[in-house]
Amino acid sequence: MAAYTWKIPAEDEYVLSGARIPLALADGLTLPVAGDGLLACDMLVEKGRLAAIAPPGAIGGARLNVDCDGGLVLPRLVDLHTHLDKGHIWSRQPNPDGTHWGARTSVMADREANWNAQDLRARMDFALRCAYAHGTGAIRTHIDSLGKQAAITWPLVAEMRELWKGRVDLQAVALFPIDLALTDPEQFRALVAIVAANGGIMGGMTFLGGKPDERSGAALRHIFEAAAANGLDLDFHVDESDSADARSLGEIAGMIEATRFKGRVVAGHCCSLALADEAEAAATVAKVVDSGMAIVSLPMCNMYLMGRTQGRTPRWRGVTLVHEFAAAGAPVSVASDNTRDPFYAYGDLDMIEVYREAVRILQIDHSGPQWPRIVSSTPASVMGLKESGTLRAGDPADLILLRARSFNELVSRPQNDRAVLVNGKSIDTTPPDYRELDAALGAG
Ligand SMILES: [Zn+2]
Repeated sequence: MAAYTWKIPAEDEYVLSGARIPLALADGLTLPVAGDGLLACDMLVEKGRLAAIAPPGAIGGARLNVDCDGGLVLPRLVDLHTHLDKGHIWSRQPNPDGTHWGARTSVMADREANWNAQDLRARMDFALRCAYAHGTGAIRTHIDSLGKQAAITWPLVAEMRELWKGRVDLQAVALFPIDLALTDPEQFRALVAIVAANGGIMGGMTFLGGKPDERSGAALRHIFEAAAANGLDLDFHVDESDSADARSLGEIAGMIEATRFKGRVVAGHCCSLALADEAEAAATVAKVVDSGMAIVSLPMCNMYLMGRTQGRTPRWRGVTLVHEFAAAGAPVSVASDNTRDPFYAYGDLDMIEVYREAVRILQIDHSGPQWPRIVSSTPASVMGLKESGTLRAGDPADLILLRARSFNELVSRPQNDRAVLVNGKSIDTTPPDYRELDAALGAG
């Protein structure tokens, strides 16, 4: 059977009738309950904006109508943590054994050999077209920023941000081992200047498995001070490790306090926390909440990488304490992370897939209606985006229309029959063909 064909009018004004929207994204709206954490509504699209969200039948006048037939309507989603510079190199540089170490060494080799502007442009553009086709409206990407790479990639990111303006909001974070701030202060200063000049965010990868020591504290302090001096936000790769000894998350929370840092701080991964004992985990969660830090979990990538030993069945899921963080009041998101590269062999920057897998991996079903925020309003707010990830009258009509009428139908199938609206206009939801990458990757 062919996929459902949506008939979205080309006109400036029409009604989406018979829609269902998540309760979690309907702040301040009074609408009839449709069960399963959903509300029933009609939506008026006018000149690219969502002009009204009203109870079914309440939007009067003779207007063009799209019958959603009980289907879910979501805002375009927000992908808070990706690696567009690494994306899609799998056929050229696979991970030899699927481990985190295999990923790091493979990516390093590929980066040294191949990451010129032309190669990066082809792969990043491909990745952005995938995300756009699936209904993503904003992406934050980490950018490998060590040595010569910073000067190659950062201007390209600025070029891509301009090119995609109005379709996908693009933010970028410098990724480097945090001890760069100690081992090569000159390179570190130059990197801070590049990030500041390109409207970026400072980041860094914390020590993998090592306990906090004077060195990690000193490196973090340098990064916090450089960010504060330049008015930059921070977004770290934290404790992405199988080691129960990693303690960087609490250390970062402590550094926010010690430096009275005023910017936004995001901690990604935080895998090791799930291996800490209950009392320590609870104390760290409380410390994170007090610090105001935001947490982003990368369930697909971390389930792929963590706990992997040849010939041994993995014993844990690799994800951080998402339920505990959310219950304690931390802003929690989930995101794609890597796509078809040695850190994660699969993926397509499809946030509906990320949500589906998050439901399954994190067991966020059966625990309240708030979870749709982790791919929409929460990451949008963390990224400082005012009109993204929400369903609010007055905001752009940037929407995903689904045939699924419930979360069960949403999570059960890949949702290939969705429609995506950008400023009220229907876009092509066909992702680009992998063959387009053959020339850039030098092979089929
Ligand atoms: Zn990452």
